[in-house]
Amino acid sequence: MFRIGSHVSMSGKDMMLGSAKEAVSYGANTFMLYTGAPQNTRRKEISQLNIPAAWSYMREHDIDLFCVHAPYIINLGNSVNADTFSLAVDFLALELERTAAMNSPLLIVHPGAHVGAGSQAGIHKIAEGLNAVLTRDTDCLIALETMAGKGSEIGRSFEELASIYDKVNYPDKLRICFDTCHVHDAGYDIVHDFDGVIGELDTLIGKEQIAVFHINDSKNECGAAKDRHANIGQGKLGLNTLRNIVKHPDFLDIPKILETPWIPSKEDPSKTIAPYKEEILALTY
Ligand code: FE
Ligand code: FE
Ligand code: ZN
Repeated sequence: MFRIGSHVSMSGKDMMLGSAKEAVSYGANTFMLYTGAPQNTRRKEISQLNIPAAWSYMREHDIDLFCVHAPYIINLGNSVNADTFSLAVDFLALELERTAAMNSPLLIVHPGAHVGAGSQAGIHKIAEGLNAVLTRDTDCLIALETMAGKGSEIGRSFEELASIYDKVNYPDKLRICFDTCHVHDAGYDIVHDFDGVIGELDTLIGKEQIAVFHINDSKNECGAAKDRHANIGQGKLGLNTLRNIVKHPDFLDIPKILETPWIPSKEDPSKTIAPYKEEILALTY
């Protein structure tokens, strides 16, 4: 089944039901949510997430799958500050519980940042953190996101991601989240040679490990290591590149999630509105 959607919010009384309704309002048939604000770790109880009502609405609207994104402040790669690391591990364990309780197969995680200790130390710490939370019986998968390489981010190269796979006890519980903006910013030329880039990933990790795409244009040049998302067709990747990825025959079943910036409203330029309905139409046209 072809699935495309965007990042949506989860808040208020409706919680997950509201997320599903927002997705449907964009003409989407999948979506991604954060279980709370991405920049903090305050979260509601699982019983308050309104999960059964959300799923009955989703079934009525042919949505069979959605993904969860862990907050980006958790850092499994920190080998310098033991508190930061243990907070990340504890929070990740709870996110896995919530993801499974919401009946989502996929928790997307930024691998982490080595904060000056070097990528080898960071990679070891990330694997240690993943090993602390993943068991044979973990009910969902962790998708490691490809990163732009800003600051000391780990996951800027497929080699770094492969080396995390090599160090975990249950690599079958890992997958890849391929973010088009990040991969481009990290220096892979997906505009001129998407298939070549996928070939590299295939050799190191396996292209069947890609479980979700983040479809974003990029404000910066290939290799800029910046991570600034642009609206579809407004950046250095362009509509054609992104449309070809969305329609690529090797990845038809893989969910595509937009994380592009909200745009100023035409009626009231002091307000911003979601661009997702128009962008989904442009990408699937
Ligand atoms: Fe992300
Ligand atoms: Fe992303
Ligand atoms: Zn990004």
